[in-house]
Amino acid sequence: MTYQELKADENQYVMNTYGRFSIALDHGEGATLWDVEGKKYIDLTAGIGVNCLGYANPKITAALTEQAGKLLHVSNLYTTAPMVEVAKKLCTETGMSKVFFSNSGAESNEGMIKLARKYSYDKYGEGRAEIVTLNNSFHGRTVTTLKATGQEKFHQYFFPFTEGFAYANANDIESVRAAVSEHTCAIMMELIQGEGGVLPLDPEFVKAVRALCDEKDLLLLVDEVQTGVGRTGSLFCFQQYGILPDVVTFAKGIAGGMPMGGVMAAPTCDTVLGPGTHATTFGGTPIVCAAAKVVLDEVSQPEFLAAVKEKGEYIKNTVLSWKSDKVKDVRGMGLMLGIIVDADARAALVSEIMDKGVLVITAGKDAIRLLPPLTIRYEELDEALAVMKTVLA
Ligand SMILES: *Cc1c(COP(=O)(O)O)cnc(C)c1O
Repeated sequence: MTYQELKADENQYVMNTYGRFSIALDHGEGATLWDVEGKKYIDLTAGIGVNCLGYANPKITAALTEQAGKLLHVSNLYTTAPMVEVAKKLCTETGMSKVFFSNSGAESNEGMIKLARKYSYDKYGEGRAEIVTLNNSFHGRTVTTLKATGQEKFHQYFFPFTEGFAYANANDIESVRAAVSEHTCAIMMELIQGEGGVLPLDPEFVKAVRALCDEKDLLLLVDEVQTGVGRTGSLFCFQQYGILPDVVTFAKGIAGGMPMGGVMAAPTCDTVLGPGTHATTFGGTPIVCAAAKVVLDEVSQPEFLAAVKEKGEYIKNTVLSWKSDKVKDVRGMGLMLGIIVDADARAALVSEIMDKGVLVITAGKDAIRLLPPLTIRYEELDEALAVMKTVLA
């Protein structure tokens, strides 16, 4: 089918909830994609930070094929080896101590919020259920995680939202202190605000929040749905901030393109969710865990993580070397980067870059966001940068 034929059926049969680009993708290899009409693209988006090992990765394909011949799914009424192995690897690599598996970022954040509220309820009883989150954050699209998201535009239409969220400013510890009350049980944040515009938090601020949590027995909840799984050049971003959170969520990249997420707890709170308090049918199912095992084995290697940092620096330095009036800044860590441009000019720049065969996305008001596959080759990067230079320099 051509793009036009597919689009006509999509318009008729698929709910119109996404502002999709006018591209229908067919297949890919590495960081390169082809659309249904054979046009080639270098992909700097990786399915919004998901396809961390690239397209048609032979190791993922082999692991999925092998696991598909054994078991796809058995429910959480039984133990399976892939699930246990992924949990063990996550804990030994991070210093967290137990994992709950789910299927998406928002669902993982729901689990994290439930854990925080029950931690406080078990210890202090009712009335201490509020969670402080940061303005400009993004935590998901469920009725609870929309409200956890510190952006007014997400608090529309779907009333009543879950209550119990207060908002503070990023990188402003006094604002966080002011938002904390005797009703607070946790502080929740992304270490680099992704959807909000690729805005890294200051290390001093993050350390001060950790100290405030310790002082008041609040749980520090870190949403690593976008920053996790090697994206920033460490397995999890918190490892570069020199803190241990109480709870960390992950999703996007964890299974290289299979739908998977999860909640990791530290020893401070890893037994709060007991039998019957939390569950999900597909969580940790063998077929997604088979892919996650491949991803974690690759991404946790020090050489792999060093290469992510190197490629990130290479992109940053190359873009800044253009000394272009159109580029105001390059923000971010590892391969989670935002090229900051004039907010009014951005849409035209992005569509020109895509017409010329490079896929990018946006974040916040003025960032062109890059989240390429972590395995992107320098030849692919150079091809993409050459195209972007013709538009941005
Ligand atoms: C993408 C994202 C989510 C939501 O994940 P879904 O899988 O779409 O539910 C939550 N938090 C952050 C930081 C994200 O980037």
